[in-house]
Order: sequence, then C-alpha cells, then structure tokens
Amino acid sequence: MTIDDTLSSFALTERVEPVSPTSPVLELIDVTKTYPSEPPVEALRGVSFAVGVGELVAIVGPSGSGKTTLLHLMGTLDRPSSGTVRITGLDAAGMSDRELSALRATRIGFVFQQFFLAEHETVLGNVADGLLYAGIALGERRDLAAEALWQVGLAERALARPTQLSGGERQRVAIARALVGHPAIVLADEPTGNLDSVNSQSILDLLQSLYERGTTIVLITHERAIASRLPRQIEMLDGHIVADTTRETTAAPLSGISLPPDDRGGQGP
Ligand code: ADP
Ligand code: MG
Repeated sequence: MTIDDTLSSFALTERVEPVSPTSPVLELIDVTKTYPSEPPVEALRGVSFAVGVGELVAIVGPSGSGKTTLLHLMGTLDRPSSGTVRITGLDAAGMSDRELSALRATRIGFVFQQFFLAEHETVLGNVADGLLYAGIALGERRDLAAEALWQVGLAERALARPTQLSGGERQRVAIARALVGHPAIVLADEPTGNLDSVNSQSILDLLQSLYERGTTIVLITHERAIASRLPRQIEMLDGHIVADTTRETTAAPLSGISLPPDDRGGQGP
C-alpha cells in the first residue's frame, strides 16, 4: 500500500457520515448489467432493493440467474451498465476506483465459495490482510486480526497455515478476514458451496451468531433449505427479482438445517 492509498482511505473515512440507523446499508435502484461478450449477456435486467441495518437476507436463484453478478455490483467490485448502487448512502457511480477500494476496505466484508486464502501466510496474517487498504498500522492490524479470529472460534490456530485447516476452518478464517474491518455489510457468495454438511452447518451457525450480534448479512445461495429459513428471501430468475419475501423468523433461522447430502461439494475434510 502506498502512502497515497492510506491518505485516500482516511480522506474517505473523514468525509463520510457515520452509518445512520435509518438509512439503508445497501440500496440498488433499477440496476442493469450487460456483459459485452459476443453475443452480449444481459445478466441483470433492472434490479431494485434495499437492505437495512441488521438484516439477514438470502438471495436465491438457479445457476445463471445473476446472483454472482449482483454480488459484484453490491460489493462495488464491478460497475453496473445503468442504475444506482449506494453503500451506506454513498453513490458508487461518483467514485474513482481508488475511492471504491477505500469504501470496500472500510464498509464491506466479502466471503466467497473458494476461500481465497494466501497459503504461504499464517491464519493471523490472512485475517490482518483484510485491513491492508483500511489505512491501519501493522501492529493494530494484528491486534484486530487476533480479535476477529477469537470471534470465529479460531484464536488458537492463529499461527497455523491455511493448508493445516479443514475446509470449514478455512472458511471461518475467510469470515474473520471479512469481519476484521467491522464492515457495515457482509456479502457472502455460496459460502458453504465447497463444504460437506457438517462444515456447512458450522459456517451457518457462525453466520447466525454474527446476525444475532447485529451484523448485516447478504447470503447468496442456491440452496432453498437455507434461504427459506431466513427473515428475508430475494429470489432471482433470469436477471430479474421475481420475489422479495419477508417472514417472521424463529429465534435461530440458520440452526439445524438439514442439507441434502447429494448437493454438497464435499471438498472439506
Ligand atoms: P449465478 O451466480 O446466478 O450463477 P452469474 O451472475 O454468474 O449467475 O451469471 C449470470 C449470467 O451472466 C450467466 O448467463 C453467465 O453466463 C453470464 N456471465 C457472468 N459473467 C460473465 C462475463 N464475465 N462475461 C459474459 N457473461 C457472463
Ligand atoms: Mg454464482
């Protein structure tokens, strides 16, 4: 990270109002995305919704319906072809790439199906890397990383390498890395997609406890057994939202879900 990057992230942090409990954490208005392939693919065809503070939202839909494209746009990893994306009230369209990376570093935590951990680094180092672009000094990065590892129940594995961990543990490291900057929202794309059912349930239990502690979470999944248990379910089909359903939840929506054994990636030990 250059000094410039550090300054620009501080500048952004200062300029930005604190997250208001009444304004949405995330807002999409009539968002479209067309990939300029041959032929062009209309992956999103006018998507609008908002996510409030402390919500746990499932985005569900078959393969190819536009879920990952939507995650990339929600996370400002890609820009829409048209429409508006606001994160904590900030319009992403008005920002430079550098401002967007500062926005991501300070407000958004990502969890992917493939954990994307650096194998040559320790678990602690991987989590601390979640703060690389947040303008935080090394010593403090390590302290915050240790705290995040404690939060996901892996404090005692801080000095292990990712290769020494089970799939479920690796995903917990990735979740700690997503949480370490205290983001306004966590975006998870099929976080249990590479795990067997035992490891999947441990990840769902962890997301459950984060939700209970107030973390705002958007969980992309193709598994209806998971999505249908959550307080809110947004259903995608062919680049459109076809349903946005809110329901009364039981106390612990993600606990004790029976996942179909034939639908597991099964790569976790
Ligand atoms: P999902 O995550 O629901 O499976 P995606 O968002 O990955 O859906 O894909 C939506 C559609 O966009 C699919 O038809 C897919 O083939 C297409 N698509 C995704 N990424 C690209 C890309 N980079 N270039 C061209 N088409 C793409
Ligand atoms: Mg996908």
